[in-house]
Amino acid sequence: MLEQCNILLKKYFGFDEFRKGQEAAVNSVLNKKDAFVIMPTGGGKSLCYQIPALVQEGITLVISPLIALMKDQVDSLNSVGIPSTFINSTLSSNEIDERLYQAYLGEYRLLYVSPERLESHGFCSRLLGMHVSMIAVDEAHCVSQWGHDFRLSYRQIPDFINKLPQRPVVMALTATATEQVKEDIINLLGLNNPELVITGFDRKNLKFAVVNGVEKKDYIKKYVNENKGSAGIIYAATRKETESIYKLLAHEGVRVGMYHAGLRDEERSRIQEAFIYDDIDIMVATNAFGMGIDKSNVRYVIHHNMPKNMEAYYQEAGRAGRDGEDSECILLFSPGDVQTQKYFIDEADIPQERKALEYQKLQRMVDYCHVSTCLRKFILEYFGERVEEENCGNCSVCCDDRELQDITIEAQKIISCVYRAKERFGKTIIIDVLKGSKNKKIFENKLDQISTYGIMASSDRDFINLITNKLCADGYLRVTEEHYPVLKLTQKSIDVLKNNEKIYMKVEKVKSHVNVDNELFNLLKNLRKDISTKVGLPPYIILHDSTLKEIASKLPESTEALKKIKGFGEKKVDLYGEKVVDLVLNYMAEKGITSKSDSETTSINEKKSRGQTKEEKIKSYMVTYNLYTQGLSLKEIAEERGLSIATVEGHIFQCFEEGLKINLDDLIPKEFEDLILNVIKEFGKVEKLKPIKEALPEEVGYTSIKAVLYKYKYAG
Ligand code: ADP
Ligand code: ZN
Repeated sequence: MLEQCNILLKKYFGFDEFRKGQEAAVNSVLNKKDAFVIMPTGGGKSLCYQIPALVQEGITLVISPLIALMKDQVDSLNSVGIPSTFINSTLSSNEIDERLYQAYLGEYRLLYVSPERLESHGFCSRLLGMHVSMIAVDEAHCVSQWGHDFRLSYRQIPDFINKLPQRPVVMALTATATEQVKEDIINLLGLNNPELVITGFDRKNLKFAVVNGVEKKDYIKKYVNENKGSAGIIYAATRKETESIYKLLAHEGVRVGMYHAGLRDEERSRIQEAFIYDDIDIMVATNAFGMGIDKSNVRYVIHHNMPKNMEAYYQEAGRAGRDGEDSECILLFSPGDVQTQKYFIDEADIPQERKALEYQKLQRMVDYCHVSTCLRKFILEYFGERVEEENCGNCSVCCDDRELQDITIEAQKIISCVYRAKERFGKTIIIDVLKGSKNKKIFENKLDQISTYGIMASSDRDFINLITNKLCADGYLRVTEEHYPVLKLTQKSIDVLKNNEKIYMKVEKVKSHVNVDNELFNLLKNLRKDISTKVGLPPYIILHDSTLKEIASKLPESTEALKKIKGFGEKKVDLYGEKVVDLVLNYMAEKGITSKSDSETTSINEKKSRGQTKEEKIKSYMVTYNLYTQGLSLKEIAEERGLSIATVEGHIFQCFEEGLKINLDDLIPKEFEDLILNVIKEFGKVEKLKPIKEALPEEVGYTSIKAVLYKYKYAG
C-alpha cells in the first residue's frame, strides 16, 4: 500500500519521496489508526491526508477553519488532477446542494468543510448517507481555549463523528504544540489512541534576525528597495502604523498593498488577491492578515513591532518560505513595543490569571529580542524541543561576526543596584537610580542613599536599558509577571557579582537578504504569471518558486526531463510542460548554451549551485558594460538588468580592472568623495579595505572606495 502511495506522490505531486513524518502519518491511516500530526508551517501537513484520500475507498472529509485556504487547497488539488471540492458560507444553497449530490455520487476524493457546517442538521444528515473513510481536522489547535484561535464550533466535531454509521479514521493536524494544547486536542477531539507524528519545529530555510536600535522606517525602506521583486509581508502593531508604512512604501514606488481590520471586506479580499497573484510584492498589515494565506513564495516577513508572544511571532514569521526556499524573518525591536503589548493585555477582557500568563509570555518575547545566544535555539526550546547545537549559522546572533564587548562591569553595576534596592523595583526606577535621577520616587524611597546611586551617570539611558534587557534575556536577572514587573536576582546574578562570570555582548546588525539574479528564472516567472492570468489560479499554485529555480538550473530540454523536476507531476507536465520546455530551449539557443548529455548534467548543476562560472560572470559584466557605453545611467542599467546598483557598479569596476575604459567619477558618489579621500588619507597605508569601509557611512560601497583609490592613485 505504502509503495502505491509513493507512486501517487510522484504521479500527482511530482515529489520523489515523503518527508519526515509524512510517511508515518500516511501509514497510520492505512492501518486505520487515528493520527495526531504536529508539523511546523510549511512542513507538509496536507499531503498526510491527501495521499491516503487517493487510495482509500469513500470520501475524505477535511475540516478547515479558513475559507480562503480551503479554496486554495481545492484549486491546488484539482490542478494536479485530484477531484475535490469545498463547502462553506461563500456558496449559495443551490451550489451546496449540487456539490453534496456530486459527493454522494462519489465524484470527489476530498471534501473540505468549515467547522460551522457541522452544526447544520441538514448538512450532517446528507453526510450520513455517504461513505466517509477519513476525517482530517486541520488547524486542530482551534479546539483549545489555550490555543491562539479558539473556535467554539470545533467542539462539535466529536459529536458529529459519533453520529456517523461507521467511525472513520481521524487525523488531527496542527503547527502549535504547547503541552496544554496537545492534551486538549487529544481529549476534546476524542482521538482514539492516536499515532503521534511530531516532526521538529525547525524551519531551516528561515533566517531569523532581531534588529535593535535602528530607525525602523529607514530600515524597512532600505530593505524593501534592496529586495525589489521579492514578495514580503510587513507586520505592524496598529492600523495607524500600518497606514504610515504603507504610505512610505507607496511613495517609494514599490508595488505595495495594505490590509487591516478597518478596511471593507471587498477591499480586503481585493488586496489579498493581488498579493496572492503576485500583482503586488509587499503587504503591509496588522495581524488580521495571514489567517488562510497559503502563498508559498513569501521571501521575507518583517515585524515593524514586536508581537505579543512567541506563538504569534513564529506563526506570522513562519509565513515566509513555505516553499522551502531561503527566506528571512526580521523583527525590529524598540522598547515602546513592550508598552503597546502591555496595553493590549490590560485592555483585554480576560480573567486575571490569564493576564498573568500573557505577561509571562510577553516577557519571553522580550527575551527573544535580547538573547545573545542562537535565536533558533531559543525558539525551538520555547516550543519544548531540545537543541544541542549552539550555533545554527543562520540567525542574526550566529551570523554576527563582530567582536564581543566585555560588559561585566556594567552588568555588575546593574545587578548590584537591583540587589541594593532590595529587589523591589522595576527597570525604569533601577535605571533612574543608576543614572542618579532626581525623580520624586527616588527620594521617596530613599534610593539616593544607596551606593549605586549615580554610578552610571555618564552612560546613555538607552545603553543601560539595552544591557538590562540582555541580562534578563540571558537569565542574569528575572522579571516578575505583573503589569509593573519587578527585577529580581537569580543564581547567575550572584556569580556575576562574585566576579565568577564574565559577560559579553554584541550590538545587533543585520545583513540584507541577497537576491539571486537569474534571467531564466525571471522569464519562467513571467510565463507562470501569463498562465496564471489565463487560468485564474494564483502563480504559486501553477508552479512553485523552487520548481522554477530547479528548471532554471537543470535546463530540462524535453517533457521527459521535466518529469524529473521536483513539483512537476504528470498533470502539470501535460498542462504546461511544452510551454516550459519551449521557453528553456529558446533561452538556451539565445544564450548559445549547448545541450548537455545526461552525464554532464550533474556536473553543470554542481557548478550552478556554487554560483556562476568565471566565463558566465565575465559575460554578465560585458552586458552591463555595453549598456554603460551606450550612455545609460547606473540606475537605468540596474533597472534594465534587474540588478542592484551596487552590483552594477561592481560589474563596471571589474571591466575597468580588465583594462576597459570607464570614467571613475561615475562610480564615486559626489557627496562622499571628499570624505572617502580623507578617510583613506587618515589610514595612510591601505592594506585592507574593510576598516576604511567601516569608518564610512553604510551607503558607501567597496566599489566607490576602490574607485577613489584609483582616481587618486593610491592603488594600481
Ligand atoms: P503545511 O500545511 O504543513 O504548512 P503544506 O502542506 O502547505 O504545509 O506544504 C508545504 C510545502 O511543502 C508545499 O509547497 C508542498 O508542496 C511542499 N511539500 C510537501 N511535501 C513534500 C514532499 N514530500 N517533497 C517535497 N515537497 C513537499
Ligand atoms: Zn543561530
